[in-house]
Amino acid sequence: MIRMKDVQMTGRHSDMTQHETQEDAANGITPGGTTGAFRDVLAKDHARRGKPPLHLVDMNAEQRIEAANQLGLQPFRVKQLANHYFAHYAVDAARFTDFPESMRQQASRIFLPRLINEVTRQTADEGTTVKTLWELFDGARIESVLMRYPKRTTLCISSQVGCGMGCPFCATGQLGLTRNMSAGEILEQVRVAAKAMRDGDIAGGPGRLSNVVFMGMGEPMGNYRAVISAVRQMSALPPNGFGISARNITVSTVGVVPGINKLAKEGLPLRLAVSLHAPTDALRDELVPMNKRFNTTQVLDAAHAYYLASKRRVSIEYALMRGINDQAEHARELARRLNHYGDDWVHVNPIPLNPIEGSRWTASKPQDERQFLEILHHAGITATLRDTRGSDIDGACGQLAAKNLPVAAAV
Ligand code: SAH
Ligand code: SF4
Repeated sequence: MIRMKDVQMTGRHSDMTQHETQEDAANGITPGGTTGAFRDVLAKDHARRGKPPLHLVDMNAEQRIEAANQLGLQPFRVKQLANHYFAHYAVDAARFTDFPESMRQQASRIFLPRLINEVTRQTADEGTTVKTLWELFDGARIESVLMRYPKRTTLCISSQVGCGMGCPFCATGQLGLTRNMSAGEILEQVRVAAKAMRDGDIAGGPGRLSNVVFMGMGEPMGNYRAVISAVRQMSALPPNGFGISARNITVSTVGVVPGINKLAKEGLPLRLAVSLHAPTDALRDELVPMNKRFNTTQVLDAAHAYYLASKRRVSIEYALMRGINDQAEHARELARRLNHYGDDWVHVNPIPLNPIEGSRWTASKPQDERQFLEILHHAGITATLRDTRGSDIDGACGQLAAKNLPVAAAV
């Protein structure tokens, strides 16, 4: 088995290796973590892949200046490039008319390398839901889903190639973890979607990408450093970021407690979503393997502490599975567990399960969904059934598996 540590050693970001390894160990979710660490389920093609090309958004200030120096560019040119990228979503050298012509191509190649290439796109809901399959530099594939609503447009993005958390009801979980994505790869999904909205390429005419949710492939807390860097650059104003309000960015986690605690200290008004799916440890142990490492009490304590630190209501994600976790007793126990911490700190999102092929779990009966919601409402807890946009194109939660094309070979 190739260990995460070994993979990190091969990268171009080798100066970060030590730090990343320590950070992952602290998260306790990768091989080589602390005692009793949760072990990622690794994909067959989890192998020495190297790291994606370094992008402007992956570079710190010194790295940016150094790269400019190497090209013979003045430091102020970096700011110009950042402005093209963040304010205008531009990566095409021809657009850089404020640049010496002889420098445009090279500057674009060094600072804004192409990190994601569209393979296919599927649409639903009259073109207002768009799922895109992307190929990364090493042939790895990930997906993102754009959902346009009358008053907001949300992009669901991936943070890892596959996922190592092994939730048995989730299509991404069946893939195992191939590798973490870089901040550049994460942000490129956002840039392309924001550009498509601005240019009127999505049904409904020109508009604005307003919301981002980390609910695509991967466990964001398993790739904390790149995710938080991407979040900061999504929310900063141009020329430092895309200017998407942090209040409209949601980080969804399976319940990696150290990650939740760390996020609480970032001082960003992000929305936190916690994928609970069960109100007791006995049941959650079956549905979410990570529960054996961080149990429901630890996860809810951390979620509530996040609420106190951020003043943002926490979302509890709860995929309703027929006869498994969708009965009155489950709703009552969930309400009791949440009310233990007080009122109005949490919002429950029951999600109709999108059954994955060959899985023994299926979606709840409509009357059970209704009953589940009613019990929560009676207990004073706000809860809204998550819509399953794009489920007919496997674009809904838990269906992202980049499955319609052959799995790319490892490099
Ligand atoms: N790894 C993170 C974020 C990605 S998954 C997490 O688990 O929170 C995004 C959401 O989709 C999670 O709430 C997840 O539990 C849910 N999900 C996964 N598989 C699903 C399925 N088959 N049906 C409905 N929701 C699912
Ligand atoms: Fe990973 Fe989230 Fe799927 Fe679990 S539900 S396997 S954590 S993507």
